[in-house]
Amino acid sequence: MTMGIAVGIDLGTTNSAAAVVDPTGVPRIVRNRDGANTTPSVILLQDYGAGDEPLVGAQAKQHASRVGSDVAQHVKRYMGDPTWRFDSATGSSYTSEEISAMILRRLKEDVEVQMNVPVTDAVITVPAYFDDARRLATRHAGEIAGLNVLGVLNEPTAAALAYGVSTRGNTHETVLVYDLGGGTFDVTILNVSGGDFTVLATDGDRRLGGYDFDSELQLMIDEQVRSQGGPSCLDDLNALNVVREQAEQIKKGLSTAATAGALIVVGGASYRVIVERSEFERRIERFLNRTRDLVIDTLESAQLGWADISRVLLVGGSTRVPAVHKMLKVLSGKEPDTSINPDEAVALGAAVQAALLAPEDQETVGYLGGRSAVEGYIGAPVRVQDVTSQGLGEILLERDSDKKINSIIIPRNTPLPARETGYSSTRYDNQVRFVTTVTQGDDRDPEFVVTLGEAIIDIPPYPKGAPIATTYSYDLDQIVHVEVIDETTGLQLETFEIERVSNLKKSQVEEAKKRIGGMTIM
Ligand code: AMP
Repeated sequence: MTMGIAVGIDLGTTNSAAAVVDPTGVPRIVRNRDGANTTPSVILLQDYGAGDEPLVGAQAKQHASRVGSDVAQHVKRYMGDPTWRFDSATGSSYTSEEISAMILRRLKEDVEVQMNVPVTDAVITVPAYFDDARRLATRHAGEIAGLNVLGVLNEPTAAALAYGVSTRGNTHETVLVYDLGGGTFDVTILNVSGGDFTVLATDGDRRLGGYDFDSELQLMIDEQVRSQGGPSCLDDLNALNVVREQAEQIKKGLSTAATAGALIVVGGASYRVIVERSEFERRIERFLNRTRDLVIDTLESAQLGWADISRVLLVGGSTRVPAVHKMLKVLSGKEPDTSINPDEAVALGAAVQAALLAPEDQETVGYLGGRSAVEGYIGAPVRVQDVTSQGLGEILLERDSDKKINSIIIPRNTPLPARETGYSSTRYDNQVRFVTTVTQGDDRDPEFVVTLGEAIIDIPPYPKGAPIATTYSYDLDQIVHVEVIDETTGLQLETFEIERVSNLKKSQVEEAKKRIGGMTIM
């Protein structure tokens, strides 16, 4: 039997990364085949004669600015969306799970090459706001990539783990995770108590990130080129893409230096462009203010003040912009924690959790830290739980009125797998039919919840008020099993299952696994 290792994977909107735990229990990023710590989440699908051959990462990103059409990116935005498809030039159509699986396979294979050991298991991270369908879609993407998915972990929880927020003993801590990536912003307040990481509040803007800073710099470059008598860089698609790449370089330069420049070639002539950090900061102020307002709102919805927050943790490549740090320091009165590379924190935390959940203690595989090493570093194991993000209930008629209400059987945030029973009774004498309506949502008003399924059940004729029990069980695959019991006799009246429509079925996951597994991923 070949023994494999468990890795932590940050499957990001713009970039992804993989990490493992070293023998001393410290998580480390595993470099990809290009020697980089992160891999752009970009896929170029091209046909070289043997069907689609996905090219993942930096090279695909470069192509993205030139070809555009055969490139899939920002797929994470469509996770769990059953209507989304990527159509390749060969006429094949891929789900968001399949495209994500291509990224995961590339990361898996890169780790295997670097470490010379098979990768069998993974913990994959997701934003805290992801609902059940999107979490399950992420799990499926991992399975399609040939991974045993040990868990789907919240990104802010992973980041907190990487920053060494301790899970030892009875420590209590409340941290704020500020995550500004390439195209998304998330802010999350976490309560950490022993091994439990509880999300107290989370908010964000799914269309705000470093990409907006690049766009602003692009305009600044264009202004300077035109002021030197040059043509507009914004008119021609080719020039636009070159300028976009240079804008990102200037931005990165401004993170360490007060000025940064570039030589822009458009219309056959070159122009020297110089950007001052102060001017750049003025131009991006409105974006930072938007994140500041969301941070304030999130603190308010958690009903907390800055005095309650022990640490502000920075996550995402765009937090390297010094103005972000300054803004947060002024706002919170605290020095934000930057002890970890912000674009690596999530993958590092996922690696910690992967080592803790790995089926074998990884020390036995050689040079990897296992459970005991991690426990030495971080403290107790983290209880990371898949929980229901929405309640499951049934429609009942309110006693002595005909008003329909949604009665919750499994409340939201219940750890999975879950099993709970709700009770109701017959409405009138000799009633011979009983209707069970399974709902999803947290509102008491049936108008504001979704009906997942319904069953009409024959019952023996009893006097009014005969008790009926409905038990829901909800497994990790998020299939709802329903069991209706006649409490008078204790006999089962009916059982049925509801499979969620927004996700792939088991058989579809298997098919996708064969399809994607048969491809060579470059
Ligand atoms: P992420 O999604 O966390 O990988 O963040 C990617 C974003 O971070 C992109 O918009 C990058 O341009 C940006 N980024 C990476 N490094 C830097 C840096 N040194 N300074 C400013 N932005 C950066």
